[in-house]
Amino acid sequence: MSVVITIDGPSGVGKGTLAQWLACKTGFHFLDSGAIYRSLAYGVMQAELDVNDIEPIIALAKTLPVEFKANSIIYEGVDITSKVRTEEVASIASQVAPIPEVRAALLERQQAFAQAPGLIADGRDMGTVVFPNAQLKLFLTASAEVRAERRVKQLKNQGNDANIARIIQDIRARDERDANRKTAPLKPADDAITIDTSDLNIDQVCQKAASLLNS
Ligand code: C5P
Repeated sequence: MSVVITIDGPSGVGKGTLAQWLACKTGFHFLDSGAIYRSLAYGVMQAELDVNDIEPIIALAKTLPVEFKANSIIYEGVDITSKVRTEEVASIASQVAPIPEVRAALLERQQAFAQAPGLIADGRDMGTVVFPNAQLKLFLTASAEVRAERRVKQLKNQGNDANIARIIQDIRARDERDANRKTAPLKPADDAITIDTSDLNIDQVCQKAASLLNS
């Protein structure tokens, strides 16, 4: 079995940046599990499915026509990488993610990413459900306010307007759904190491993770 390092935590905490940095540093594969749930949400929106009508959503999850090529997300041959980055898609993802049959349908697909020489897996339940035997499990936290400020900075850098109050509200709503669902709720695995990133910049988070990896 190849080495697996899991990085879990709420939205906007810096998991993706850390995971990609670690993947680059180690030469391991990278799993952005949120992108799988976002692709499902994209499919749900495209087919105009009702999030409460779970049967067609489960059927879609079982045959989800998504592929990951380099850094792109390809859905039925179309590059949807930038389309799935919206808060609307994230919100739909967090509404379909609690369906147990959806999570079961996506489980093996995520586990298949664990190939030599190793995998850095980013998500909500990587250490608790998908890779319970991972060699290193990290759980990142930061307050909703800090995460919202980071998001605002990111949006402004991209030349977009940002309403911090609205972003805090969206982050809290998604945190609540992710943490309170019955199936695979967002929580650290018993053997995870928690890193509070509130007062750390991304370089400091990466250095901390690297030192844990080498210890
Ligand atoms: O990580 P990201 O923000 O892209 O995830 C979008 C949503 O997908 C999350 O808010 C969560 O509801 C769901 N998700 C999940 N389990 C994962 C990854 C994402 O339930 N492993």
